[in-house]
Amino acid sequence: MTNLKIIKAKRAGFCFGVKRAVELAFKSAKKSKGVYTLGPLIHNPQVIEKLSSEGVHPTENIDDKNINTLIIRTHGIPLQLHEMLKKKSFTIIDATCPFVKKAQQYAKLLSSEGYQVIIFGDEKHPEVIGLISYSGDDTIVLNSNSNIIKLKKKRVGVIVQTTQPANLFREFISKLVKDVKELKVFNTICNSTALRLNETKNIAQKVDLMIVAGGKNSANTTQLATFCRLSVPTYHVETAEEIQNDWFKQVSTVGITAGASTPEWIINEIEERIRYIGGNGDNGYPR
Ligand code: SF4
Repeated sequence: MTNLKIIKAKRAGFCFGVKRAVELAFKSAKKSKGVYTLGPLIHNPQVIEKLSSEGVHPTENIDDKNINTLIIRTHGIPLQLHEMLKKKSFTIIDATCPFVKKAQQYAKLLSSEGYQVIIFGDEKHPEVIGLISYSGDDTIVLNSNSNIIKLKKKRVGVIVQTTQPANLFREFISKLVKDVKELKVFNTICNSTALRLNETKNIAQKVDLMIVAGGKNSANTTQLATFCRLSVPTYHVETAEEIQNDWFKQVSTVGITAGASTPEWIINEIEERIRYIGGNGDNGYPR
């Protein structure tokens, strides 16, 4: 099994928003003690562990007296909660992704202009829960499986959860347009997820095996693995240690991709391990 060819996705790993949030967290840890994140910063156990070893811990309890600095995650939080946090004595570091912030501003704008706001997305997702707080009491959350219910106002404004697939959003808008007199749409989709998925699908069609790196609890990593499995045998791993030599028997080309919450060091370790296996037969990996 020498000369194993590796194709690594250029967009593997942290998206802009996650990179920014993780950097802010590590920087805060250097500056002060008592740094907490409001819920786990990202869905990657290894990064959470690393943050924890530097003194950044997740918490759900905003009354915890140990908090000196509280970091808000990329998904953002509801406006009311933000107001509550401002009254506390600790420092707030807002790591809400700027793309999510933009969606929050559009939600507020639509509501202030008298539109009934529809959010296209998952009503249980923290980002959507945050958006609702900006868009008024008559906001409704719909997804591609929802029937368009009777709307209260003739003027309807739409925003979309940043990670929703663009094709489903387009279909939704074309259905909705038939039922409303006036429609204002802000396309707040962040294309980072779609670009990563497209690149991954392309690679999966060219290789014998795909390795997808990222937290087992990460929805976008799991989605990447699901799409890869449609084309090729695929393993979803969190670390290089999980990779087994047997997987590469009769494999000449392997693809590597990773979710938006997977750090570069894990992707590099995985690549290194595959290169080792590819260059050394089945002799194992130095542990
Ligand atoms: S996927 Fe897009 S919107 Fe979400 S955190 Fe990353 S850059 Fe921001």
